[in-house]
Amino acid sequence: MLPSASVTSSSQHAVIIGGGAIGLMSAIHALDQGLQVTLLDFNEAGSEEASSYGNAGWLSAHSVMPPVEPGMWKKVPGFLLDPLGPLAIRWRYLPRLTPWLLRNLASARRERMRSTARALRSLTVDARLLHQEVAQRAGVGHLIDISGVLHVYRSREHFKGDAFGWGVRRELGVTWTELDGAELRHREPDLDPAYDFAVQVDETGHCLNPGAYMQALDAYAQSRGARRVQGKALGFRIEGGRLRAVRTAEGELACDLAVIAAGAQSKVLAAQAGDRVQLESERGYHATIAGQTKVATARTPMMIADHKVIATQMEGGLRIAGQVEFASFDAAPDWRRAAIMRDIALKAFPKLPRDLPAADVKFWMGRRPSTSDGMPCIGYASASRDIVHAYGHSHIGLTCSVRTGRIVAQLLAGLPPEIDLQAFSPQRF
Ligand SMILES: Cc1cc2nc3c(=O)[nH]c(=O)nc-3n(C[C@H](O)[C@H](O)[C@H](O)COP(=O)(O)OP(=O)(O)OC[C@H]3O[C@@H](n4cnc5c(N)ncnc54)[C@H](O)[C@@H]3O)c2cc1C
Repeated sequence: MLPSASVTSSSQHAVIIGGGAIGLMSAIHALDQGLQVTLLDFNEAGSEEASSYGNAGWLSAHSVMPPVEPGMWKKVPGFLLDPLGPLAIRWRYLPRLTPWLLRNLASARRERMRSTARALRSLTVDARLLHQEVAQRAGVGHLIDISGVLHVYRSREHFKGDAFGWGVRRELGVTWTELDGAELRHREPDLDPAYDFAVQVDETGHCLNPGAYMQALDAYAQSRGARRVQGKALGFRIEGGRLRAVRTAEGELACDLAVIAAGAQSKVLAAQAGDRVQLESERGYHATIAGQTKVATARTPMMIADHKVIATQMEGGLRIAGQVEFASFDAAPDWRRAAIMRDIALKAFPKLPRDLPAADVKFWMGRRPSTSDGMPCIGYASASRDIVHAYGHSHIGLTCSVRTGRIVAQLLAGLPPEIDLQAFSPQRF
């Protein structure tokens, strides 16, 4: 048996499994609710192993369109044949992925996409301001920039090709400003002038260093009494519907409440808590180019629409992030995909030197926790209401982490959640 938390008060003890963005925000808000908190993770805070480390940093209130599009199933053979395309599926993984894929493709109907977007909007709205508030509390307000993002297109015609998505966003209250080529070149002088049209979305911000942000959130939670335990959760001891302990490889961690916030690895724990969820690890890559900020930079974070990648100037360099690859959790990264990110940067920012020193380019692979219908799982577990599910945020987990953490804490405290959670039910599969 692991030592129980050194608690003196009679408040309930919650073990948060997973210390990525979702787990950390859950921990902070559970502390706000007066709970005793233990964060359980086998990785360090801010670890490169967590998806929360290497993302594009967007706090993206307008990112509500699921990444599937109508008719996408027709492209699946291409995804299998082109291992370096923007979306790739490794052959060996196809049998395991098929049920997930079928439901995912079924979600790509326009009406379904609309209702998914509506549900996601309830989680994303005001994200930059929510992050600003928590970051300030944690002493790292400077890591959050709330001044908007761009989507850059080759032409207005290309923008019109995305009309459905932007139309849904408009229905949900998202507004934007259009920039013509001259304005874009003035705003972004280092960007390839072939990009001749852009939209600016003011309600989305970004984080300048997600890894450092995670470390600061962890330190803040610990300064308020949260305990961090290094270990791997294996399951739960539940007696008469009440949670008694989280089981780990090192022994049991006695507790009253638990949160499954283990990112792309949450499926096994969800099953232990009585719920079969369709969750896969959707891999993405980044290349971060250091030392060139004075040569070429993205003054505003930008989605480069034709490549479907995001370029964000981070504290540590210009980060180009994107790609979707389905492979088993433990399969080796395909670094050629990260090299593609670097090459897109060289194309989009022509002033970057062609002979970038290898030491200045860092490659990373991360695993988005992605459900088959594009929506996270947030809610009580079937085996016990003492266990709360909180994972599956796919492309927008950093964005949604504050509101999700707040909702998790409300559920732990037995309070009504601040938004309707029906669409996010872990029992919906
Ligand atoms: C290339 C890329 C770009 C992205 N860009 C953005 C973006 O701009 N904006 C945005 O909002 N989102 C973005 N995302 C998505 C975002 O990074 C994720 O949705 C988010 O980080 C998920 O957070 P999490 O806490 O659920 O998981 P993670 O950050 O992966 O954390 C899970 C933690 O659980 C731990 N764990 C796992 N199993 C166990 C266990 N059994 N016991 C104990 N601990 C365990 C792991 O060690 C890990 O620390 C991007 C993702 C990628 C890959």
